[in-house]
Amino acid sequence: MASATRYDVTREQLSDLLAGTPRYRVDQVWSGLYSRLGEPESWTDLPKPLRSDLARLLPGALTPVTESISDRGDTVKFLWELEGGSRIETVLMLYRDRATVCISSQAGCAMGCGFCATGQAGFTRHLTPGEIIEQVVRATERARALDRRVSNVVFMGMGEPLANEAAVWTAVERIHGDLGLSARHITISTVGIIPGIRALAARPLPVNLAVSLHAADDALRDELVPINRRYPIDDLVAACREYLGVRNRRISFEWAMIDGVNDRDSDARELAAICRRLRPAAHVNLIPLNPTPGYPTRGSSLKRVHEFRDELERLGANATVRQNRGTDIHAACGQLAAGQPVAVGGSRTRAGERQSAAEAASTGGDGEQLGCDP
Ligand code: SAH
Ligand code: SF4
Repeated sequence: MASATRYDVTREQLSDLLAGTPRYRVDQVWSGLYSRLGEPESWTDLPKPLRSDLARLLPGALTPVTESISDRGDTVKFLWELEGGSRIETVLMLYRDRATVCISSQAGCAMGCGFCATGQAGFTRHLTPGEIIEQVVRATERARALDRRVSNVVFMGMGEPLANEAAVWTAVERIHGDLGLSARHITISTVGIIPGIRALAARPLPVNLAVSLHAADDALRDELVPINRRYPIDDLVAACREYLGVRNRRISFEWAMIDGVNDRDSDARELAAICRRLRPAAHVNLIPLNPTPGYPTRGSSLKRVHEFRDELERLGANATVRQNRGTDIHAACGQLAAGQPVAVGGSRTRAGERQSAAEAASTGGDGEQLGCDP
């Protein structure tokens, strides 16, 4: 585990760290961290010695490695190195009316979903709260430089947030309370870790929950999302119902459409039946599967995605087609591997190297909705 970094310290820890510094100065430092942002050296209303102390006592957690910008210029992917050498990615997506940051909660992921580049690369370690918060801070700085404001945060980057629930929650509280984002604009996406969903239901803020379902019968879900063997669909749906009971919010089901695998009429019928059990609070987000090096099956055609959506609607389920951002820079859902080698039919290659931008974009085209905001 990394040692405490700039955004790991609580306000009390900051006071202790700066013992002897007047209270109003500590407040100024806190507002530097959460309102002004940037490097402590740039907070020129603080005395120079204090600024140098801060730079030394509170090192940043994220060392920039590369920054990629999509062809359209509306998606920025940051690759960071953490203490210990692991790498993670963060994606900033700019829309006309909002800006969303997609953040990582772990370096890698232990859940082993075969269609996901992060899962293909395996698990390295949990992120600390500070490493999670700093991703939002860095993306906010980048957005500000473009005269934009970050309005939404989604835990849809690398890792399974509910396998690291305590750190994720500390980060959520700080993003909400100190960076000032409404809980309703924060979304946690989970593969379906039931104890994590229960833990979340007991937390005080009404964040959005997205559940990566991808299959509505256990045999297929066991194959696509191996953790389903431990937390099967009926139990998962019951946990979602409990969450709805407490939170009174909508739940979204994520469904990456895989050609001939989970895009059949029978899949739509089974999925609609689950949604009807949670009516009116379940919403399905359909995304054509994005290509990853370790999974050969293609995403469904956009035509099929729309037919599937229509079928769901006809069966009484609400569904939206979402088209991912940033496939050309491997910044879309499931494509984040931070340059880690991923398993490809027994051999290993660098994530993303297999696919040309054209191939990567070929499952794309313009969807009606862009990005992974639920
Ligand atoms: N671990 C969490 C959050 C990170 S994954 C989860 O699984 O929900 C973010 C989203 O990307 C999830 O809905 C996941 O199922 C989806 N995803 C993974 N690989 C994908 C791919 N190749 N194409 C499209 N979506 C993918
Ligand atoms: Fe992990 Fe989510 Fe990828 Fe599955 S889809 S391997 S849970 S990051």
